[in-house]
Amino acid sequence: MTTKTEQVINQTEQFGAKNYNPLPIVISKAEGIWVEDPEGNKYLDMLSAYSAVNQGHRHPKIIQALKDQADRVTLTSRAFHNDQLGPWYERIARITKKEMALPMNTGAEAVETAIKAIRRWGYQVKGIANNQAEIIACEGNFHGRTMTAVSLSSEEEYRKGFGPMLPGIKLIPYGDVEALKAAITPQTAGFLFEPIQGEAGINIPREGFLKEAYQVCKDNNVLFVADEIQAGLARSGKMFACDWEDVVPDMYILGKALGGGVFPISCVVANRDVLGVFNPGSHGSTFGGNPLACAVSIAALDVIEEEKLVDRSLKLGNYFVERLKEINNPIIKQIRGRGLFIGVELTEPARSYCEKLKENGLLCKETHDTVIRFAPPLVINEEELDWAIDRIKRVLS
Ligand code: PLP
Repeated sequence: MTTKTEQVINQTEQFGAKNYNPLPIVISKAEGIWVEDPEGNKYLDMLSAYSAVNQGHRHPKIIQALKDQADRVTLTSRAFHNDQLGPWYERIARITKKEMALPMNTGAEAVETAIKAIRRWGYQVKGIANNQAEIIACEGNFHGRTMTAVSLSSEEEYRKGFGPMLPGIKLIPYGDVEALKAAITPQTAGFLFEPIQGEAGINIPREGFLKEAYQVCKDNNVLFVADEIQAGLARSGKMFACDWEDVVPDMYILGKALGGGVFPISCVVANRDVLGVFNPGSHGSTFGGNPLACAVSIAALDVIEEEKLVDRSLKLGNYFVERLKEINNPIIKQIRGRGLFIGVELTEPARSYCEKLKENGLLCKETHDTVIRFAPPLVINEEELDWAIDRIKRVLS
């Protein structure tokens, strides 16, 4: 007899495009830090949907906001105002201390929005000659899967067969301020970076990079644009990963946990001198700023603040890293992280270890072949982390 899990995996294999390679587990229920398969096996979620579930699965306050809003109005399009968008604008402006926001749905769309804003700012404000604007990004980046995002990427796998790529992009090694200086020309409109590179394997830039890069951008009238889609909103133990070096970017790009893992919403946030370049007709999205997403997002931001997820992430992240360091095994090359955004780099491929962790009740996913990412929901507690450590020790010792 085939189990429900086998049935779902068979359907996926037969009818689904093969653009993912998931672990062989089907999730049919989730609550807080736990997920369950159709056969009733429970697992601790150590991935949090790539940090979209920082608030924990189905947080009651966020689900209540979803239900209440679903009973009122879900979609208006931007042809009309809706009564959740105004309050959401004010909320996001307060949390980022910026003047304006532009809501979209997915992270990649927010990156698209940022690129459009940077280019338009380059022409309208900086005075770059038409169609000459350049944007600098970092090797190893991950900004999503749209044509713009893969044009920014240095990863052959992400680009292969999808050319021609978007022109006007230059890449520098991550963390290299001299390379940034050398890459800037009078046509440079913006520098786009992740304050911690998530998909590249939890890469933390060397100390001082963000501050120095910020100064270089200011000196050259180049917009300093932080993709905080994965690292932001409490994940790294600060509200924004840029806070680690006390830098305030010209633009934040946010997504994932902005919708509490319940409903997609993303945005770019900046001051009027930057986002003011958009006028009616220049950009938009049918679903961007919809009332359901906004109501959910307000609740998701409330939870981050009310449950002090920034402090939790910092404190528990330090604790978890210390406990991970107890594991004495030469296959562990490096343990790095900030808050509960932790990568354990191995000297060999991490996939088989993720499969063994799954058999022991922990859901993790390898990133960049040799790194196991540990990024549980930030509502986890110390006891539950100890439970995880016991399993990790079993597999990695
Ligand atoms: N930017 C960063 C830093 C990300 O980590 C991701 C997703 O992992 C994206 C952009 C793309 O977001 P989405 O998958 O919602 O399009």
